[in-house]
Amino acid sequence: MYDVLIIGAGVIGGFVAKELSRYNIKTIILDKENDVGNVTSAANSAIIHSGYDPFPGTNKAKHNIRGSKLYEQICQELDVEFKRVGSLTCATEEEQIEALHALVARAKENNVEVKLLNKEETKKQEPFISDNVIASLYAPTAAIVNPFELCVAIVENAVDNGVTLKLNEEVTKITKKKDYYIVKTKDNTYEAKVVVNAAGLYSDEIAKMVNLNSFKIRPRKGEYIVLDHFEEPYVSHVLFPMPSNKGKGIMMAPTTHNNYLVGASSDFIDDKGDYSTHKETIDEIISSVNRMVSHLPLKRNIRQFSGLRSTGNTGDFIIEEKDGFIILGAIESPGLAAAPSIALEAVELVSKTLDLNEKENYNPKRRKVNRLSKMGMEERNKLIKENPSYGRIICRCEQISEGEVIDSIRRNAGATTVKGVKKRCRPGFGLCQGGFCEPRVIEILARELNKDMLDIRYDGLKSYILKTYSKESGDAND
Ligand SMILES: Cc1cc2nc3c(=O)[nH]c(=O)nc-3n(C[C@H](O)[C@H](O)[C@H](O)COP(=O)(O)OP(=O)(O)OC[C@H]3O[C@@H](n4cnc5c(N)ncnc54)[C@H](O)[C@@H]3O)c2cc1C
Repeated sequence: MYDVLIIGAGVIGGFVAKELSRYNIKTIILDKENDVGNVTSAANSAIIHSGYDPFPGTNKAKHNIRGSKLYEQICQELDVEFKRVGSLTCATEEEQIEALHALVARAKENNVEVKLLNKEETKKQEPFISDNVIASLYAPTAAIVNPFELCVAIVENAVDNGVTLKLNEEVTKITKKKDYYIVKTKDNTYEAKVVVNAAGLYSDEIAKMVNLNSFKIRPRKGEYIVLDHFEEPYVSHVLFPMPSNKGKGIMMAPTTHNNYLVGASSDFIDDKGDYSTHKETIDEIISSVNRMVSHLPLKRNIRQFSGLRSTGNTGDFIIEEKDGFIILGAIESPGLAAAPSIALEAVELVSKTLDLNEKENYNPKRRKVNRLSKMGMEERNKLIKENPSYGRIICRCEQISEGEVIDSIRRNAGATTVKGVKKRCRPGFGLCQGGFCEPRVIEILARELNKDMLDIRYDGLKSYILKTYSKESGDAND
């Protein structure tokens, strides 16, 4: 019998697992995917919003504001890349100035620092801002994070502190008993006193399993363009247009690796598994962001992708507890920013059922990650001397070494797939999109996991890469 069973290892379930790992209880986290943080938490704008925007008094406002304050220390402790770059919300028409003032008033109510900038002041902050921009709202506390690394790090830290992680475990049925729950997956049955539903897009369907039908999720798709990294920064803040009833609008933001994200569109769809991108939408994204910036370097476009927001029918995050069943549902944007704060509330809800006593040996820190591309020559040479695998470059675009790939596999909640390695240490994120490094990553995964190369998957259990050997090679892993 587990004390707590968490459904979903995205950023919400991951943070809840990390927070619960402080206590002397038995916690398990299940996910239907073949890796942690593999769904919405891996396909978003990666912005830790400052919190001026959500309406005061909502769950979105409360948790965004507190989450944003918690992030810096958490990222330091977990060695996750995080930068407070600030954001500029740009007005391009006179009629928007009044709305800009309304945002200042909302920021004041939310107690978030902002400043109105005129055209010249905005241009000073961002030389490539378009002449269309006549004023902007500067929010200095807005930040960017590496969301892939974050999701891995929170679950790794939870597992380091005693939480059990099980992947490829899709919850199909939940039965309520007098003071515990029976949770069924295709292959296994679990029992737990408390269940936390952090199933993202499917949180409404999980709630229905225990007859809690209070909400409905409709996916809202956001498509993006990714630009390659530049030597000289193009834009250094997160740039938003004025928000509308469709959300925060098409933004442009640097990533923690100096790439640029341009997006996201906002279109309701019906299929929770539809991640397609469309030329017409991408064209709209380009024309929209062109109103905000000049000389958009589209030649550096290296890929497109989409993410699905878990938009609920209540307009706010759903955070509820009934008889030891906790719903953390409809966590659309700013869910990434809000996640550490939502996890603290989830712990309070767990404590309604369980006595939570802190462990003496809880460790909030994660073992440091060696990132060769961010090291100076002296530091690199020292590391390579200690461990020569850091001297063998696997990914030329992103300058990732074999040592980094090996480390990403050997950690708790480590990579078992090509995409898992990519999310943890970036081979395949560069201009060639894995063309050069993917075969080497497959070889290393096979060697480290003691598997045949034919058994290495790109992502899910059915995402085969190699079908057969084309010539006699003796040892399959030669
Ligand atoms: C386009 C876009 C842009 C965004 N930009 C931002 C931003 O810049 N800043 C911000 O703060 N937020 C942003 N968000 C929102 C943020 O990404 C989400 O709020 C957050 O990732 C939600 O996390 P989650 O853990 O609830 O969901 P998920 O990451 O989807 O995790 C849910 C997990 O549950 C698992 N699961 C589902 N059903 C089952 C089952 N039956 N059994 C077992 N496991 C199951 C899934 O496999 C998944 O891993 C954006 C979202 C999108 C789509």
